[in-house]
Amino acid sequence: MTELLRIENLTKEFSVAGSTFPAVDDVSFTLHAGETLSVVGESGCGKSTLGRVIVRGIDATSGRVLYSPDAAADDPAPQDATAGKEIDFLSLKGRQLKAVRQDIQMIFQDPLSSLDPRMTVFDIIAEPLRATSRPSRSEVRRRVFDIAQKVGLDASHLRRYPHSFSGGQRQRIGIARALVTGAKVIVADEAVSALDVSIRAQIINLLKDLQDELGIAYLFIAHDLSIVEYISDRVAVMYLGQVVELAETDQLFSTPHHPYTEVLLSAVPQPDPEVRRERIVPRGEVPSPTQRPAGCLFSTRCHYATELCRNETPPLQEVEPGHYSACHFARELSLRGLAAVAPERVEQPQVEAEHYSEVPAEEHLSSPKPA
Ligand code: SF4
Repeated sequence: MTELLRIENLTKEFSVAGSTFPAVDDVSFTLHAGETLSVVGESGCGKSTLGRVIVRGIDATSGRVLYSPDAAADDPAPQDATAGKEIDFLSLKGRQLKAVRQDIQMIFQDPLSSLDPRMTVFDIIAEPLRATSRPSRSEVRRRVFDIAQKVGLDASHLRRYPHSFSGGQRQRIGIARALVTGAKVIVADEAVSALDVSIRAQIINLLKDLQDELGIAYLFIAHDLSIVEYISDRVAVMYLGQVVELAETDQLFSTPHHPYTEVLLSAVPQPDPEVRRERIVPRGEVPSPTQRPAGCLFSTRCHYATELCRNETPPLQEVEPGHYSACHFARELSLRGLAAVAPERVEQPQVEAEHYSEVPAEEHLSSPKPA
């Protein structure tokens, strides 16, 4: 697959009460044209900050976001000055920034708060076009009507205001706004988390259909691993600001190579209420970002931790082709994937038995646990 976006050593630091900590810590990965790469992890792991830094919603402390316009172009023009080049999106200014911004857009978690209540849907969708170029009125009208139709909105919707729409329709407006400029990279930050379960499937399928039709690459930030398994080509797992595992979806779900991924997979909801699966409960609490452990960041919670883990930071290494893990024992450990976390049939109703089907992974991971 063609490399479209290359994230290199991206770091975003924040200062709290006099101490500085990295919310995103030296993150590197690539996003290929037309693929979906999901970023998962519990609340506070830095996945949303990563997305906002990539689209320049907030400034990076260091690192680069290299974009290859050629990989995005349907028919790259060889005479184009950018032909064959990578552009550091984070260093662009003025007209160059506006031009590349057309290609890199974002869909937000809360469709209502991300839409200006005083603007009509037409103007909301047209806004990125007008902000990044000088299109004629007829061009704006053509492109807004075209993308509205693609996301399932009709002409009468465009005259109305956001408050008169349901959550799912509002997210369709948000998707149209992100795509109206012809974007090839979409950062979708928890794009379906705020929606009713019945609406989620519609929006997920819409995103997949648009990807097939328009060749968009998604960086899909999420915590629901069931959705991630369905929508993703590859998955990156983040913990305390770092990517600790990255692999193709099937590989990561069947044969994880990082103990934190094993924990996340054991908390994936089980749809059959008569079936329960063994959960792997990590030790203790998530460390404060301002007091990060030495060595491996997961060492204070990992059941496999040794002295080596507490003293030396494991690098993110390729353990199988295309499968990366930041664990000293990634090759030695035999970790349980989703299928291997074998569900047990519950023979008798057990009032005290823990059924985890409704417990989100984040809640599970943040609750105090015995060592
Ligand atoms: Fe656990 Fe050690 Fe691997 Fe870290 S390096 S995930 S502490 S086994």
